[in-house]
Amino acid sequence: MALENLRAMLSKAAAGRYGVGAFNILDYNSARAVVQAAEELGAPVIIQTSAKTVTFWGCRTLVGWIEDLAGRAKVPVALHLDHCKDLGLIRECIETGWTSVMIDASAKPFEENLALTRQVVEMARPKDVTVEAELGAIVGVEDEIHVKEQDSHLADPRQALEFCMQVQLDCFAPAIGTAHGIYKGEPKIAYHILEEVATSTGVPIALHGGTGLSDEVFRRCIALGCAKVNISTQIKYAFIDGFVGYHNAHHTQYDPLKVIQAQFDEMKKAIAGNIKLFGSAGKG
Ligand SMILES: [Zn+2]
Repeated sequence: MALENLRAMLSKAAAGRYGVGAFNILDYNSARAVVQAAEELGAPVIIQTSAKTVTFWGCRTLVGWIEDLAGRAKVPVALHLDHCKDLGLIRECIETGWTSVMIDASAKPFEENLALTRQVVEMARPKDVTVEAELGAIVGVEDEIHVKEQDSHLADPRQALEFCMQVQLDCFAPAIGTAHGIYKGEPKIAYHILEEVATSTGVPIALHGGTGLSDEVFRRCIALGCAKVNISTQIKYAFIDGFVGYHNAHHTQYDPLKVIQAQFDEMKKAIAGNIKLFGSAGKG
């Protein structure tokens, strides 16, 4: 199938109260793991790229891989740009084939965040590219964006409604207490904010900082309106551990394709586990 944007994918998920997994890939092998896991489970899926990964490989290389993988897949696949502050890079992704983008101007004051988000929506619409925006500050490190705990703040539901009334979003990421990276303690999720924002705005919500949340927390967030569930850190771990683990167990072998296969298997297992947990298996 050709790459899709997030619109139909997320509105079906929000209505059916399941979550579509959005997995941050690093290379062709990880993208292949995402598509194969989704296909085996019959699930719609979002391949997500950080701005850093896009810059590392270049837009055309990445799009070539993903279009090839999606083209042969029997499930809907979207290509989404994660947290991006650079309008130039957003434009380049829109022009080269991304079907969805996230503008992250959440560090700016409300009005500026809104203005930048509007600019991206105007850029994206003619190409039928969907747009995600963020309000509040999600703690942790994501793609060189560092947010210290004392600087994190939850989204204000009234501001969230105001934001979503002023700009037509396809997906919204209010800060609700989740964090990027690895959790040090039990995360305190502001379920009341999530519920209020999801209900009042009617926009499908993106859950950031998914890695490390308990199954129970995932289920509750999805039930309250999180239609897109981001998983990045867990893929990074599977990427490195799958590779290093195989080499350590067979350290005299030096057969790169076996190492890459072990890495693929580790990532695919992690991705499949998430898809089942989010309830999107069989929804593609
Ligand atoms: Zn995020």
